Amino acid sequence: MDILFNNQIVSRDSVSIDIEDRGYQFGDGIYEVVSIYNGELFEWEAHLERFVRSAKEIALTLPEQFDLLKENIMRLIEDNHIEEGYAYFQLTRGTALRMHAFPEPQAEPVLTGMVKNATSPPITAVKAITTEDIRWLRVDIKSLNLLPNCMAKQKAVEAGAQEAIFIRDHYVTEASSSNVFGVKNGVLYTHPINNLILNGITRQVVLRLAGNLHYKVVEEAFTRDELMDMDEVFITNTGLNVCPVIEIDGMLIGEGVCGPITSSLMSAFGELIQRNGKE
Ligand code: PMP
Repeated sequence: MDILFNNQIVSRDSVSIDIEDRGYQFGDGIYEVVSIYNGELFEWEAHLERFVRSAKEIALTLPEQFDLLKENIMRLIEDNHIEEGYAYFQLTRGTALRMHAFPEPQAEPVLTGMVKNATSPPITAVKAITTEDIRWLRVDIKSLNLLPNCMAKQKAVEAGAQEAIFIRDHYVTEASSSNVFGVKNGVLYTHPINNLILNGITRQVVLRLAGNLHYKVVEEAFTRDELMDMDEVFITNTGLNVCPVIEIDGMLIGEGVCGPITSSLMSAFGELIQRNGKE
């Protein structure tokens, strides 16, 4: 299997990452995951924009020839004949003597990327737990530091669920690897974009689709109590797209089935995917 390593497509086995790579030692880096449909990247521009923003927020200089990234990922997609799947890429602050402060002069940033086929069978609904949001206050940056997310997801799995919804000061922020929406009396609710959630690309697409479908959307935080009382709850992310949450902390949401608004957004999303790369 070939991967991307600093602007070169090379065999995975030939790549070695230094023990003092700052991504490896400090989680000092950023990443993106982009869906592939019809052999084409989905919402590439939005992902790239978020990646560039994340880099800027942590004062990470983009590597030379960064503009070749899309071309290189497209090559990986074509070489591996990926019709449906995802591309992953990350950038670290590079290799330097292990000291917390940023290296001076700057180290060469390390860019790596890979593509994967979609895994079978698609997830159609999830159960979730709620858990305290113990993450730092800059989760708008898509950084490599995902330990609290991993711990929350593990807690969900151990409880027989698939996702963990974060609660900060009684309010729902997002979930361990997705954004959270609630529907009450036909109105959609989701946390506003700020430092407490990741500005999900799927979230952005869903807001557009909701607008097309003339749904009212309120971008305001809601509490855990309000979450439990929603008619419908769904999560969004790259991979799941729109996915109903039918049970939270052992309690059914609504009737415990995918609700009508979630269902209409799933259909609209499905149509968008089918058209990807064809217009
Ligand atoms: N929040 C968190 C914490 C995530 O890890 C993800 C997945 N990257 C999302 C939200 C959803 O983001 P996106 O729709 O861009 O995949």
